[in-house]
Amino acid sequence: MNVSSDLSGVISSGMCIGCGACEMADSSVKVSLSPNRLIYEPESAGSAAAASVCPAVSVDYEGLQNYLFPGAEIGPFGVVRSVHLSQSTNNGRNMKASSGGLIKELLRHLLSSNQIDGVIALDHVDGIEFAARLVSSADDVDTLPGSIYHNLKQTPALELLRDTPGRLAVVAIPCQLEGLYAWVKQMAPELREKITITIGLLCGWQYSHHSINAMGEYLGYNPEDIADISYRGGGPVGKLTVTTRDEKVFTASRRVDFGYQVAFDRHFNTSRCHVCINHSNFLADLVVGDAWLPSTVFTKTGISLVVCRTEFAEAALQSLVDSGNCVSIQVGEDEIRESQTERVVFGEFAYAYAAFLREIGLHTPELHGPNEGFGTLKPRRQVTKFHRELVRKQALMAARRYKYMKVRKATLELRGYIMRYVRWFMVRILRVKSLSGQRKEISRDRFSGFS
Ligand SMILES: Cc1cc2nc3c(=O)[nH]c(=O)nc-3n(C[C@H](O)[C@H](O)[C@H](O)COP(=O)(O)OP(=O)(O)OC[C@H]3O[C@@H](n4cnc5c(N)ncnc54)[C@H](O)[C@@H]3O)c2cc1C
Repeated sequence: MNVSSDLSGVISSGMCIGCGACEMADSSVKVSLSPNRLIYEPESAGSAAAASVCPAVSVDYEGLQNYLFPGAEIGPFGVVRSVHLSQSTNNGRNMKASSGGLIKELLRHLLSSNQIDGVIALDHVDGIEFAARLVSSADDVDTLPGSIYHNLKQTPALELLRDTPGRLAVVAIPCQLEGLYAWVKQMAPELREKITITIGLLCGWQYSHHSINAMGEYLGYNPEDIADISYRGGGPVGKLTVTTRDEKVFTASRRVDFGYQVAFDRHFNTSRCHVCINHSNFLADLVVGDAWLPSTVFTKTGISLVVCRTEFAEAALQSLVDSGNCVSIQVGEDEIRESQTERVVFGEFAYAYAAFLREIGLHTPELHGPNEGFGTLKPRRQVTKFHRELVRKQALMAARRYKYMKVRKATLELRGYIMRYVRWFMVRILRVKSLSGQRKEISRDRFSGFS
């Protein structure tokens, strides 16, 4: 059977990302949490209509970019009008946020200046459940969470878009917008004009709920008892913080806690993240991510990397600067590459891994973005080794052998683990690329007003 005639390939491969577009396109499809993989996926294969909007089947990046940004030039980072490093000047908001607090500042500004009537953004529901809700006042914006890294069912965002009248801003990760726009373009084109702006997150990956369960074993909480969870806040990197219903709080440093490195290593990602080439969020009007640059390591609160793809997005950012709600400096596209690494922005691993999966006959989404051909594909040896490891670790996760996975990381995987820190130290702290003349860092003087 042709993979695009229904969702059977998506189900067998575990490539669903939970965007919910299939549920909107085909009412027979229900997306729910799979008990083994602990990701959201369709319970049944549905129809060709469901497959036609599914980002785990294919994404028409060129068609969607032309639909969203007609006439704009498309480069390896998508449509780029300008790139900025920005930070909210409200210290409290910035400290609570994941990077520079830019998203909350933008949403507050757009609502209070009456440029939009509402925001569709992710909010906490209960336990580890998060879902999109409608926010219609600037004061309500600060109640939204920071980045949520575990896999979620994103259908509520699509339902809100369908059912809410007025001018809307939508906050979303890249694969969520792929599903949203595939569905809107093909099946609900009248919704396009409601979207005044999309604010996208840069996104390297999301995690299956195995990560949360594994951390439960390492830190000593029962996942069933979780009342709330957050991953960021309190500085540029932040801590994983789990609060249980009896008000106990469990935390782990996202940079140094060994258990966190085990439970949140890339083998715990949802499978489609391994072939995702859309880290830069090609379909969002304004994209926000972390500025992981040697020139920004001084920050105690976090700085955002912001990509504006439309004039409206640029004007919104400029208004924040003019009103003193944010500080911002314009930089070049090279800062996107340096901050996020070529591996992810050019899909160096993802394109190579997708080619490998196709060759061995497994379901592989057709994802060919504007960045294809710009990076150096990772060698076959590395991809094959990764696949072997992934299959092994997914089996260990399904068997809930999280403790053994920790031992494995401390022994078999120790070299790779240490090398990651060495690389980080060389590039970000020692600035080897600047020392060797490969790049020029942004001077500290340009960051006046940043904290
Ligand atoms: C799964 C995921 C992976 C990411 N990967 C990277 C990366 O590799 N590199 C990088 O530079 N940045 C990444 N980011 C983005 C980064 O973590 C920050 O979210 C971003 O810099 C915005 O920070 P802020 O301070 O402006 O926003 P905040 O004030 O922290 O606001 C976050 C906003 O995002 C919304 N949101 C949070 N989680 C989700 C979600 N899962 N789905 C949809 N909306 C959500 C919230 O509703 C809120 O409006 C990722 C974010 C997510 C959610």
